[in-house]
Amino acid sequence: CGIIGYIGNKNAISVVMDGLKRLEYRGYDSAGIAYFTDNKIEIKRRKGKIHDLESIVSKCNISSNLAIGHTRWATHGRPSDENAHPHRSDGIVIVHNGIIENYVQLKHELQSEGFNFTSETDTEVLCHLINKYSKNNPIEEAVRIALKGVRGAYAFAVISEKEPDKIVAVRKESPLVIGFGDGEYFLASDVPAFLSHSKEVIFLENNEMAVMHRDGVIITDIEGNLLNKNVITISWSP
Ligand code: GLU
Repeated sequence: CGIIGYIGNKNAISVVMDGLKRLEYRGYDSAGIAYFTDNKIEIKRRKGKIHDLESIVSKCNISSNLAIGHTRWATHGRPSDENAHPHRSDGIVIVHNGIIENYVQLKHELQSEGFNFTSETDTEVLCHLINKYSKNNPIEEAVRIALKGVRGAYAFAVISEKEPDKIVAVRKESPLVIGFGDGEYFLASDVPAFLSHSKEVIFLENNEMAVMHRDGVIITDIEGNLLNKNVITISWSP
């Protein structure tokens, strides 16, 4: 399983689809992608191989400058189109690797507040929680508040229709690396996903967050304190 994200001037859809193929070795049962087009987020996802996803994505013939992608190894909810990531709650869209341990309790709470679940995954609670807190907050703040009540393991990336030039990514117990290119930025579960574009990377540690904009990436701890992390140059080739 794996996640990937891209913001920059290339066609984000091609970069992310290509990155997903490079993460195939990690194993998966479904794949999906979300990208901005006309300030709206479009989602394509399905059970099966990346090749199958590609056939629906390439039909759309769209270019975008921001996209996130996912290969799923189902832990909660069978492999199906509905359970494939990305998941959406209003304008909030997320891809997640890992497990939300207290999702049953969170799901009941969110359902009683009126949130409507459309999948069997543990991930969907994250999505609704972030949506709930994003009404009056930027995404990174909504994520910080949401995570206070979440137990589990995760690497996830979230985007919002209200903030079309931003990706927020967090890690805890699942790998996540940020790549720095020339006016373009990447996130992925593993370096090979974007190595043909960038060799300058920062590995996130547990409870660290990357807020990725068009003009740079800010890395903080989960409380929002700025971190000064070392950029590592990868010496091997793709
Ligand atoms: N627990 C999530 C799910 O079953 C994510 C699985 C993964 O890591 O791919 O959908």
